[in-house]
Amino acid sequence: MTPRWLIARRGVQLTLLAAFAGAPWWGAPLVQGTLASSRWFGALTLSDPLVVLQAALAGHAVAAPALLGAAAVAALAAVLAGRLYCGWVCPVNLITDAVEALRRAIGWHGALLPRADRRLRRVVLAGVLLASALTGSVAWELLNPISHVVRALAFGLWGAGAVALAAVAVCDLLLLRRGWCGHLCPVGAFYGLLGRFGRLHVQARRPEACTHCGDCFQTCPEPQVIAPVLQRQAIGTVIADVDCLRCGRCLDRCAENVFAWRLGAPGRSPR
Ligand code: SF4
Ligand code: SF4
Repeated sequence: MTPRWLIARRGVQLTLLAAFAGAPWWGAPLVQGTLASSRWFGALTLSDPLVVLQAALAGHAVAAPALLGAAAVAALAAVLAGRLYCGWVCPVNLITDAVEALRRAIGWHGALLPRADRRLRRVVLAGVLLASALTGSVAWELLNPISHVVRALAFGLWGAGAVALAAVAVCDLLLLRRGWCGHLCPVGAFYGLLGRFGRLHVQARRPEACTHCGDCFQTCPEPQVIAPVLQRQAIGTVIADVDCLRCGRCLDRCAENVFAWRLGAPGRSPR
């Protein structure tokens, strides 16, 4: 099967990265800044609402364009699905998916930590917000690998970017499987909570066709979100868990076409 949703995601991610990196080629930059706060086509400001929230907690004055940009991104995340950001925008997802592919290719399933609670990322998020309030700084931006990678692309600051990427790769390869995005990243935790009532979901369109092959569980970066839907065996039941990235890998991998996208309220059956 052609992994069309994977191809679409990579297209979006790489186009965004090319926009940040491409000023020398385009002549004039399409975008200035980083994913923390960026200005597109010299007119449209988009800001990461978590960065703006940290700045506000730190007591910094936030400029009106940054506030409006954060509100726009937050509204989009809330209406659609917060973790779309993780699967379709975040450059670190390219690294963590690559490490997972490497693990599968070499048959390496080990880790120093055999398992950890996936709610750990919400504890990290609370710690980040508390640290911003206590230190008067946008605390997570000192560490945030997303910002370091985009800064590296946009401004050539590859020292911190390379260290950040290496740390994420080592984390996922040696410390904890799917450790960074699946357990630790407070950005994903924040967008997941923001999209709690979002309207874009994956639904079980043909649960009765499931052969229990396990392919969707193996490919899903958050496999714990799938089981409740398949267990219910109810047509139209959606994956409503905030941890679902809406990456579409389960749609790509399921040979029985059990899954489909659904846009609408999660509670209603489409039939
Ligand atoms: S990939 Fe499809 S058939 Fe296989 S377990 Fe998942 S839903 Fe069932
Ligand atoms: S359930 Fe499907 S869309 Fe959601 S994270 Fe897993 S593979 Fe991606």
